[in-house]
Amino acid sequence: MQNITWGKIFLVFLAIIFIEPQVILSQHTDKCGTVIDRRTINSICSILSNHVPKNSFLDSVVPIQIHLVGYSDSTGTLDSMIILNEIERVNQYYAAAGMYFSNCNSINYIYSDDYSEFEQSNDETICDIIDFPNILNLYFVPFLFKESDGQTISLCGYTYLTGERNRVLIANQCASNGSTLAHEIGHYFSLLHTHDTTNGIEAVARIGCNSLGDGFCDTPADPNLSSLVNANCQYTGIEQDPYGEYYSPDPSNIMSFSRKECRNYFSQQQTQKMRRYFKTYRSYLYCINNGNLITNHNSLDYIIFPNPSSNYLALVSNEGRSTSYDFCIFSSLGIKIQSGNIQNYQHLNISHLKSGTYFVELSSDIESKMKKFIKY
Ligand SMILES: [Zn+2]
Repeated sequence: MQNITWGKIFLVFLAIIFIEPQVILSQHTDKCGTVIDRRTINSICSILSNHVPKNSFLDSVVPIQIHLVGYSDSTGTLDSMIILNEIERVNQYYAAAGMYFSNCNSINYIYSDDYSEFEQSNDETICDIIDFPNILNLYFVPFLFKESDGQTISLCGYTYLTGERNRVLIANQCASNGSTLAHEIGHYFSLLHTHDTTNGIEAVARIGCNSLGDGFCDTPADPNLSSLVNANCQYTGIEQDPYGEYYSPDPSNIMSFSRKECRNYFSQQQTQKMRRYFKTYRSYLYCINNGNLITNHNSLDYIIFPNPSSNYLALVSNEGRSTSYDFCIFSSLGIKIQSGNIQNYQHLNISHLKSGTYFVELSSDIESKMKKFIKY
């Protein structure tokens, strides 16, 4: 009996020596690779001040496409249940924003040694081809890294805050930690890290909190929590702000660099900003399957959205992304106003039209179909 007890103590001792340093190491090395610079922050500011919420086809659904990447011998992919459970967890975090992440298609499995050890700068050559249009593409890869100054840096995940790259890359080892996926999706919907200093350091007193730090007044000043949070999710740092005040940050905020298992909270202002970004800048996210267009392959069908619209109409048809069509816009009196050629998934510029009701006719080689839209 005594031997067993000592054996257990010895095992615990071994675990402390050998496992704990790895846990600490992984905390330090598995970083968020999302690039945030002044230009990106300025673009987000101008997007949010210039875009008005549109009546999107969508109400609250953010369509997602899951890509599970493995090696050429078909090993290395995650169990799909792990991902689906994690997406359910993400849905709980985003419920307050009125956003719900829903699979648009079945899971896309990719078996390729070229993609499974995924270097960040290869993203454009690989994902530009694989991405499903108008959907948030979530890639889960066996190993995610970037090369910087000749060093290999292991990444947990990354995404893009602006632009047309609707994708989030996640390393399998970070896929089910409860917060990395929610964190990267937070970036995709414009959130900065709680310790961001691009626009200036936010002091503990939170003066100027609307523009400094992460731009929110309901997230406390944060000195960067990397390795400053203990296993009980308590802040252990003794950092002081530029005025000599001690930080009292929030290790539960999903956009912090706290321990990943400690992050489970978005503030109200973070939530509101993500919703606004979704409803304005990201309002093109649309799952064609939800429009039931795939049920009728033999006949041309399409949707135009948002409708009503003031500047752009997105066109999505039941044919391939590269298919192009002749289009004509008619006034409500049947007068032809504009014609041309448009490719599937592209936008039709209607900013020059006066407010009113119009018709757009789309023609393929064999048939044409007309739809009504309202310009406001
Ligand atoms: Zn991040």
